[in-house]
Amino acid sequence: MLRIKGRVLVGPDEVRDGLWAVDGRITYERPPGADGAVTLTGWALPGLVDAHCHVGLDHQGPVDAATSEKQALTDREAGTLLIRDAGSPSDTRWVDEREDLPKIIRAGRHIARTRRYIRNFAHEIEPGDLVAYVAQEARRGDGWVKLVGDWIDRDAGDLTACWPRGEVEAAIAEAHRLGARVTAHCFAEDSLRDLVEAGIDCVEHATGLTEDTIPLFAERGVAIVPTLVNIATFPALAAGGEAKFPRWSAHMRRLHERRYDTVRAAYDAGIPVFTGTDAGGSLAHGLIADEVAELVKAGIPALDALSATAWGARRWLGRPALEEGAPADLVVYDEDPRADVRVLASPRAVVLNGRVMG
Ligand SMILES: [Zn+2]
Repeated sequence: MLRIKGRVLVGPDEVRDGLWAVDGRITYERPPGADGAVTLTGWALPGLVDAHCHVGLDHQGPVDAATSEKQALTDREAGTLLIRDAGSPSDTRWVDEREDLPKIIRAGRHIARTRRYIRNFAHEIEPGDLVAYVAQEARRGDGWVKLVGDWIDRDAGDLTACWPRGEVEAAIAEAHRLGARVTAHCFAEDSLRDLVEAGIDCVEHATGLTEDTIPLFAERGVAIVPTLVNIATFPALAAGGEAKFPRWSAHMRRLHERRYDTVRAAYDAGIPVFTGTDAGGSLAHGLIADEVAELVKAGIPALDALSATAWGARRWLGRPALEEGAPADLVVYDEDPRADVRVLASPRAVVLNGRVMG
C-alpha cells in the first residue's frame, strides 16, 4: 500500500489532502492497515500525457523490442504515463502486458501518400486505397488513425496537400463508423480546410493555421497537438534543404517564425490544445516537460498548459485522472507545478499502477 501525503491536484481547481493506492487503485478513504503504508510527500499530478509520441520507431524506421522498451522507460522517467502513439510500424502490443510501462493508445501505422513521407515509417499508398487502409489501421489501433496530410512535393518544391477531398472524406467517415478518431500530420496551410470539413478530429503540428482556418477548428472542436519541441527543428531542416528546395525552405522558416503566435491564436479562439513531443522519429523521448514549457512560452496560461498534459488530455483521450478507483498513475513533485511548470522537469517520484518506479 502507498500513501501520498501532501497536495493532490485532482483537477485544475480541485486540491485534496493525500490519497492512498490500494491494489494499484486510488482511494481517498483511509483503508484498513493504512499505518503500514509507504509514504510519499509532495505535490501529485495525474501521470502526464504525451499525445504525440512514437514507440517502436527511430529515424530509420521500426526498432526492436529492447529499444522500444528503453523509449518507454525514458518517457516514464519524465513522468509520461499515458502515450497516444501517433503512428508506429512496430507491433508494441506486448507493452500492454507490462504493469511497469506507460499505457499506450495506438493509432496503428502512419498512412502516407507514395514517396511523400520519411522512408520506412508509413504505409505508402494512393488515394484509391485510402478507405481500405484507414479501415485496416482503425481495427489495429486503439481508437485512432494517423494520416500524413501534407509533405514536401518534390515536383512543386514545396509542401502540398496529400489527399483529394473526396477520398479523405470517405476515409474519415469509415474510421468514425468503426469507432476510431482520425488525426493528420499537417505543417502547411492548404490541407487544413479540407480535412476539417471532412470531419477530422485532430491535427498534429498545425503550424499552418491561419485566421481563415482557426475559426473552423474552433467551431468544430478539432484539437491540435502543436509539438513545439519538434517545430524548433524547422530552421535546421530548412537549412539542409535550402539548395534543392528553396521555396520549401522559406516556407518552413515562415511557419517556424510564427509558431508561438499560431498556437496562442488557436488557444485564444478556444481550440483544444494538447501536449505532444513527437519523440521517436528524430526527437528523443522524455521531453514532455519541455513541451509544456513551450506552450507557456507561446502564451498559454500555466494552468491550461498543465491541463494540456494532465486533466484535459486524459479527459480528451477517455482515460481517468486522479478519481476514486482510477489506476494510481501519478507523478509527485517537490513544489506546486501550477506556480511554475518548470517543476515538471524534476519529478520526485513516478507511481504507476500504485507502485513507485525506480
Ligand atoms: Zn510524429
